[in-house]
Amino acid sequence: MLSSLSLLQSMALSLRGVSSNPARLRLRSHARGAMLGLALGDALGATVEFLTPREIRKQYGRHDRIRGGGWLRLPPGQVTDDTTMAFALAEAWLLNRHAPSDEDYARAFDTWMRGKPVDIGNTVRRGIVRFRNTGQACMPLSEDAGNGACMRCAPTALVLLGAPSDTIARATLSQARVTHHHPLTDAATLTVVNMVQAGILGSAAGAGLRTVMAQANLLAREFPLFRFRGKAAENPSGYIVDTMRVVLQAIDLNDNFESALIQVVNCGGDADTTGAIAGMVMGALHGEAGLPERWLRDLNRDAWRRCIDYADGLIERSPAWQRL
Ligand code: MN
Ligand code: MN
Repeated sequence: MLSSLSLLQSMALSLRGVSSNPARLRLRSHARGAMLGLALGDALGATVEFLTPREIRKQYGRHDRIRGGGWLRLPPGQVTDDTTMAFALAEAWLLNRHAPSDEDYARAFDTWMRGKPVDIGNTVRRGIVRFRNTGQACMPLSEDAGNGACMRCAPTALVLLGAPSDTIARATLSQARVTHHHPLTDAATLTVVNMVQAGILGSAAGAGLRTVMAQANLLAREFPLFRFRGKAAENPSGYIVDTMRVVLQAIDLNDNFESALIQVVNCGGDADTTGAIAGMVMGALHGEAGLPERWLRDLNRDAWRRCIDYADGLIERSPAWQRL
Protein backbone atom coordinates (compact mmCIF):
# COMPACT_ATOMS: atom_id res chain seq x y z
CA MET A 1 0.00 0.00 0.00
CA LEU A 2 2.73 2.35 1.03
CA SER A 3 4.72 1.58 -2.07
CA SER A 4 1.73 2.00 -4.38
CA LEU A 5 0.97 5.30 -2.67
CA SER A 6 4.48 6.54 -3.20
CA LEU A 7 4.30 5.26 -6.76
CA LEU A 8 1.17 7.37 -7.27
CA GLN A 9 2.86 10.32 -5.67
CA SER A 10 5.86 10.02 -7.89
CA MET A 11 3.60 9.66 -10.93
CA ALA A 12 1.77 12.83 -9.94
CA LEU A 13 5.08 14.60 -9.45
CA SER A 14 6.40 13.50 -12.78
CA LEU A 15 3.09 14.42 -14.44
CA ARG A 16 3.43 17.90 -13.06
CA GLY A 17 6.93 18.08 -14.47
CA VAL A 18 5.88 16.60 -17.80
CA SER A 19 3.41 19.33 -18.68
CA SER A 20 1.19 18.77 -21.66
CA ASN A 21 2.62 21.83 -23.40
CA PRO A 22 3.88 20.39 -26.71
CA ALA A 23 6.66 22.95 -27.02
CA ARG A 24 7.98 21.93 -23.59
CA LEU A 25 7.70 18.24 -24.47
CA ARG A 26 9.78 18.93 -27.54
CA LEU A 27 12.46 20.79 -25.58
CA ARG A 28 12.64 17.95 -23.11
CA SER A 29 12.98 15.30 -25.81
CA HIS A 30 15.85 17.20 -27.41
CA ALA A 31 17.55 17.90 -24.07
CA ARG A 32 17.41 14.17 -23.32
CA GLY A 33 18.72 13.52 -26.81
CA ALA A 34 21.79 15.65 -26.03
CA MET A 35 22.63 13.89 -22.74
CA LEU A 36 21.84 10.39 -23.99
CA GLY A 37 23.66 11.12 -27.25
CA LEU A 38 26.76 12.12 -25.31
CA ALA A 39 26.64 8.90 -23.27
CA LEU A 40 26.00 6.70 -26.31
CA GLY A 41 28.88 8.26 -28.25
CA ASP A 42 31.18 7.80 -25.27
CA ALA A 43 30.15 4.16 -24.69
CA LEU A 44 30.38 3.34 -28.40
CA GLY A 45 33.70 5.10 -28.94
CA ALA A 46 35.45 3.80 -25.81
CA THR A 47 35.74 0.36 -27.45
CA VAL A 48 38.04 1.74 -30.14
CA GLU A 49 39.76 4.59 -28.28
CA PHE A 50 43.42 4.85 -29.37
CA LEU A 51 43.00 2.37 -32.25
CA THR A 52 43.75 3.47 -35.80
CA PRO A 53 41.00 3.14 -38.44
CA ARG A 54 42.95 0.24 -39.95
CA GLU A 55 43.13 -1.58 -36.60
CA ILE A 56 39.40 -1.06 -36.12
CA ARG A 57 38.66 -2.52 -39.56
CA LYS A 58 40.82 -5.53 -38.85
CA GLN A 59 39.23 -6.16 -35.46
CA TYR A 60 35.57 -5.29 -36.05
CA GLY A 61 35.02 -4.62 -39.74
CA ARG A 62 32.81 -1.64 -39.05
CA HIS A 63 32.38 -0.88 -35.34
CA ASP A 64 28.67 -0.15 -34.99
CA ARG A 65 27.41 -1.59 -31.73
CA ILE A 66 27.79 -1.11 -28.00
CA ARG A 67 30.19 -3.88 -27.04
CA GLY A 68 32.46 -2.60 -24.26
CA GLY A 69 36.11 -3.68 -24.13
CA GLY A 70 38.76 -1.30 -25.37
CA TRP A 71 41.92 -0.40 -23.49
CA LEU A 72 39.85 0.23 -20.33
CA ARG A 73 38.25 -3.26 -20.59
CA LEU A 74 34.79 -1.82 -20.00
CA PRO A 75 31.61 -3.83 -19.61
CA PRO A 76 29.27 -3.17 -22.58
CA GLY A 77 27.43 0.13 -22.22
CA GLN A 78 29.68 1.67 -19.59
CA VAL A 79 30.54 5.34 -20.06
CA THR A 80 33.85 7.06 -19.24
CA ASP A 81 35.07 10.44 -17.99
CA ASP A 82 33.44 12.32 -20.87
CA THR A 83 29.96 11.47 -19.59
CA THR A 84 30.69 11.39 -15.86
CA MET A 85 32.33 14.83 -15.96
CA ALA A 86 29.20 16.11 -17.70
CA PHE A 87 27.22 14.59 -14.82
CA ALA A 88 29.44 16.50 -12.38
CA LEU A 89 28.81 19.71 -14.31
CA ALA A 90 25.06 19.03 -14.26
CA GLU A 91 25.24 18.54 -10.49
CA ALA A 92 27.05 21.85 -10.05
CA TRP A 93 23.87 23.44 -11.43
CA LEU A 94 21.26 21.17 -9.92
CA LEU A 95 22.66 21.21 -6.37
CA ASN A 96 22.79 25.02 -6.37
CA ARG A 97 19.87 27.39 -6.74
CA HIS A 98 22.10 30.07 -8.24
CA ALA A 99 24.38 29.88 -11.27
CA PRO A 100 27.58 28.08 -10.18
CA SER A 101 30.73 30.10 -9.47
CA ASP A 102 34.17 29.06 -10.75
CA GLU A 103 34.69 27.40 -7.35
CA ASP A 104 31.37 25.53 -7.55
CA TYR A 105 32.50 23.99 -10.84
CA ALA A 106 35.93 23.17 -9.43
CA ARG A 107 34.39 21.54 -6.33
CA ALA A 108 32.06 19.46 -8.51
CA PHE A 109 35.01 18.19 -10.57
CA ASP A 110 37.02 17.59 -7.41
CA THR A 111 34.20 15.46 -5.98
CA TRP A 112 34.07 13.64 -9.30
CA MET A 113 37.82 12.86 -9.13
CA ARG A 114 37.49 11.60 -5.54
CA GLY A 115 34.94 9.08 -6.90
CA LYS A 116 37.83 7.32 -8.71
CA PRO A 117 36.63 7.69 -12.30
CA VAL A 118 37.50 4.93 -14.75
CA ASP A 119 39.76 7.30 -16.69
CA ILE A 120 40.98 10.88 -16.43
CA GLY A 121 42.92 13.11 -18.80
CA ASN A 122 46.23 14.65 -17.73
CA THR A 123 45.07 18.23 -18.20
CA VAL A 124 41.90 17.57 -16.22
CA ARG A 125 43.87 16.00 -13.38
CA ARG A 126 46.35 18.88 -13.33
CA GLY A 127 43.57 21.47 -13.10
CA ILE A 128 41.74 19.71 -10.29
CA VAL A 129 44.93 19.04 -8.31
CA ARG A 130 45.84 22.69 -8.69
CA PHE A 131 42.46 23.69 -7.28
CA ARG A 132 42.98 21.33 -4.33
CA ASN A 133 46.39 22.80 -3.60
CA THR A 134 45.72 26.49 -4.19
CA GLY A 135 41.95 27.06 -4.18
CA GLN A 136 42.37 28.62 -7.64
CA ALA A 137 39.46 27.55 -9.86
CA CYS A 138 40.63 29.22 -13.08
CA MET A 139 43.72 27.95 -14.90
CA PRO A 140 46.12 30.58 -16.23
CA LEU A 141 46.44 30.76 -20.01
CA SER A 142 48.40 27.68 -21.12
CA GLU A 143 49.73 25.90 -24.20
CA ASP A 144 47.52 22.90 -23.56
CA ALA A 145 44.67 22.71 -26.06
CA GLY A 146 43.14 19.34 -25.15
CA ASN A 147 39.49 18.41 -25.68
CA GLY A 148 38.57 17.75 -22.02
CA ALA A 149 36.57 20.93 -21.38
CA CYS A 150 34.59 20.54 -24.58
CA MET A 151 33.62 16.90 -24.03
CA ARG A 152 31.62 17.71 -20.88
CA CYS A 153 29.90 20.95 -21.95
CA ALA A 154 26.34 19.73 -22.74
CA PRO A 155 24.75 20.69 -19.37
CA THR A 156 25.64 24.37 -19.87
CA ALA A 157 23.85 24.34 -23.22
CA LEU A 158 20.71 22.85 -21.68
CA VAL A 159 20.38 24.95 -18.55
CA LEU A 160 21.11 28.19 -20.42
CA LEU A 161 18.95 27.55 -23.47
CA GLY A 162 17.43 30.91 -24.37
CA ALA A 163 19.77 32.90 -22.06
CA PRO A 164 21.62 36.02 -23.28
CA SER A 165 24.77 35.12 -25.23
CA ASP A 166 27.13 36.80 -22.75
CA THR A 167 25.65 34.71 -19.90
CA ILE A 168 26.18 31.57 -21.97
CA ALA A 169 29.76 32.53 -22.83
CA ARG A 170 30.62 33.35 -19.20
CA ALA A 171 29.28 30.03 -17.87
CA THR A 172 30.88 28.05 -20.70
CA LEU A 173 34.34 29.52 -20.09
CA SER A 174 34.02 29.34 -16.33
CA GLN A 175 33.51 25.56 -16.34
CA ALA A 176 36.09 25.08 -19.12
CA ARG A 177 38.89 27.02 -17.43
CA VAL A 178 38.86 24.98 -14.25
CA THR A 179 41.05 22.67 -16.33
CA HIS A 180 41.65 24.17 -19.80
CA HIS A 181 42.55 27.72 -20.72
CA HIS A 182 43.53 28.21 -24.34
CA PRO A 183 41.94 30.34 -27.11
CA LEU A 184 41.23 27.25 -29.24
CA THR A 185 39.59 25.26 -26.43
CA ASP A 186 37.56 28.30 -25.38
CA ALA A 187 36.34 28.81 -28.96
CA ALA A 188 35.55 25.15 -29.61
CA THR A 189 33.73 24.66 -26.31
CA LEU A 190 31.58 27.71 -26.89
CA THR A 191 30.91 26.53 -30.45
CA VAL A 192 29.73 23.11 -29.24
CA VAL A 193 27.46 24.74 -26.65
CA ASN A 194 26.03 26.90 -29.43
CA MET A 195 25.64 23.87 -31.72
CA VAL A 196 23.72 21.93 -29.06
CA GLN A 197 21.42 24.92 -28.51
CA ALA A 198 20.97 25.41 -32.26
CA GLY A 199 20.13 21.72 -32.57
CA ILE A 200 17.39 21.97 -29.94
CA LEU A 201 15.92 25.29 -31.10
CA GLY A 202 16.50 24.89 -34.83
CA SER A 203 14.81 21.52 -35.02
CA ALA A 204 11.52 23.21 -34.06
CA ALA A 205 11.88 25.63 -36.95
CA GLY A 206 12.80 22.85 -39.40
CA ALA A 207 16.21 24.46 -39.89
CA GLY A 208 18.13 22.20 -37.52
CA LEU A 209 21.23 21.06 -39.34
CA ARG A 210 21.66 24.38 -41.14
CA THR A 211 21.73 26.41 -37.94
CA VAL A 212 23.98 23.84 -36.28
CA MET A 213 26.48 24.01 -39.13
CA ALA A 214 26.30 27.81 -39.20
CA GLN A 215 28.01 27.71 -35.80
CA ALA A 216 30.68 25.34 -37.13
CA ASN A 217 31.27 27.64 -40.09
CA LEU A 218 31.74 30.62 -37.77
CA LEU A 219 34.39 28.71 -35.83
CA ALA A 220 36.24 27.74 -39.03
CA ARG A 221 36.11 31.33 -40.25
CA GLU A 222 37.50 32.75 -37.02
CA PHE A 223 40.12 30.01 -36.55
CA PRO A 224 41.01 28.47 -39.94
CA LEU A 225 42.76 25.58 -38.16
CA PHE A 226 39.27 24.14 -37.59
CA ARG A 227 38.39 24.06 -41.33
CA PHE A 228 36.78 20.70 -41.80
CA ARG A 229 35.68 20.38 -45.43
CA GLY A 230 37.94 18.50 -47.84
CA LYS A 231 40.32 15.71 -46.96
CA ALA A 232 38.88 13.24 -44.45
CA ALA A 233 40.40 13.56 -40.98
CA GLU A 234 41.18 10.37 -39.10
CA ASN A 235 42.89 9.03 -36.01
CA PRO A 236 42.28 12.26 -34.05
CA SER A 237 44.41 13.00 -31.01
CA GLY A 238 43.08 14.74 -27.90
CA TYR A 239 44.14 18.08 -29.43
CA ILE A 240 40.91 20.05 -29.75
CA VAL A 241 41.55 20.89 -33.42
CA ASP A 242 41.97 17.23 -34.45
CA THR A 243 38.95 16.25 -32.38
CA MET A 244 36.67 18.95 -33.74
CA ARG A 245 37.60 18.36 -37.39
CA VAL A 246 36.50 14.72 -37.18
CA VAL A 247 33.30 15.69 -35.35
CA LEU A 248 32.37 18.54 -37.70
CA GLN A 249 32.99 16.43 -40.81
CA ALA A 250 30.68 13.71 -39.55
CA ILE A 251 27.90 16.12 -38.58
CA ASP A 252 28.25 17.89 -41.92
CA LEU A 253 27.94 14.69 -43.93
CA ASN A 254 25.30 12.67 -42.07
CA ASP A 255 21.63 13.41 -41.66
CA ASN A 256 21.00 10.96 -38.84
CA PHE A 257 22.41 10.23 -35.40
CA GLU A 258 23.47 6.66 -36.04
CA SER A 259 25.45 7.15 -39.24
CA ALA A 260 27.22 10.26 -37.87
CA LEU A 261 28.28 8.39 -34.74
CA ILE A 262 29.45 5.34 -36.69
CA GLN A 263 31.54 7.57 -38.96
CA VAL A 264 33.11 9.38 -36.01
CA VAL A 265 34.11 6.38 -33.90
CA ASN A 266 35.47 4.47 -36.89
CA CYS A 267 38.00 7.28 -37.33
CA GLY A 268 39.58 5.87 -34.15
CA GLY A 269 41.96 7.93 -32.04
CA ASP A 270 40.21 9.73 -29.20
CA ALA A 271 37.01 8.00 -30.26
CA ASP A 272 35.08 8.12 -26.99
CA THR A 273 35.48 11.89 -26.96
CA THR A 274 34.70 12.48 -30.64
CA GLY A 275 31.73 10.15 -30.08
CA ALA A 276 30.64 12.14 -27.01
CA ILE A 277 30.82 15.52 -28.77
CA ALA A 278 29.15 14.34 -31.98
CA GLY A 279 26.58 12.52 -29.85
CA MET A 280 25.53 15.57 -27.83
CA VAL A 281 25.09 17.69 -30.97
CA MET A 282 23.31 15.06 -33.06
CA GLY A 283 21.17 14.01 -30.09
CA ALA A 284 20.14 17.63 -29.49
CA LEU A 285 19.23 17.91 -33.16
CA HIS A 286 17.25 14.67 -33.50
CA GLY A 287 15.84 14.29 -29.98
CA GLU A 288 15.36 11.18 -27.89
CA ALA A 289 13.31 9.48 -30.62
CA GLY A 290 16.18 9.85 -33.10
CA LEU A 291 18.54 7.68 -31.04
CA PRO A 292 18.97 4.02 -32.09
CA GLU A 293 16.94 1.78 -29.80
CA ARG A 294 19.46 -1.06 -29.88
CA TRP A 295 22.16 1.28 -28.53
CA LEU A 296 19.89 2.71 -25.84
CA ARG A 297 19.01 -0.82 -24.71
CA ASP A 298 22.68 -1.60 -24.20
CA LEU A 299 23.61 1.64 -22.42
CA ASN A 300 24.46 1.19 -18.74
CA ARG A 301 21.18 1.62 -16.80
CA ASP A 302 22.53 4.01 -14.19
CA ALA A 303 24.04 6.24 -16.87
CA TRP A 304 20.78 6.11 -18.85
CA ARG A 305 18.75 7.15 -15.79
CA ARG A 306 21.12 9.99 -14.87
CA CYS A 307 21.11 11.33 -18.43
CA ILE A 308 17.32 11.57 -18.33
CA ASP A 309 17.07 13.01 -14.82
CA TYR A 310 19.76 15.62 -15.43
CA ALA A 311 18.45 16.57 -18.87
CA ASP A 312 14.96 17.11 -17.41
CA GLY A 313 16.24 19.07 -14.41
CA LEU A 314 18.50 21.30 -16.49
CA ILE A 315 16.08 22.10 -19.30
CA GLU A 316 13.28 22.94 -16.85
CA ARG A 317 15.52 25.61 -15.38
CA SER A 318 16.33 27.17 -18.75
CA PRO A 319 14.95 30.58 -19.79
CA ALA A 320 13.57 28.96 -22.97
CA TRP A 321 11.46 26.54 -20.89
CA GLN A 322 10.36 29.22 -18.44
CA ARG A 323 9.05 31.37 -21.27
CA LEU A 324 6.73 28.64 -22.61
MN1 MN B 1 36.85 9.08 -21.91
MN1 MN C 1 38.77 10.27 -24.78
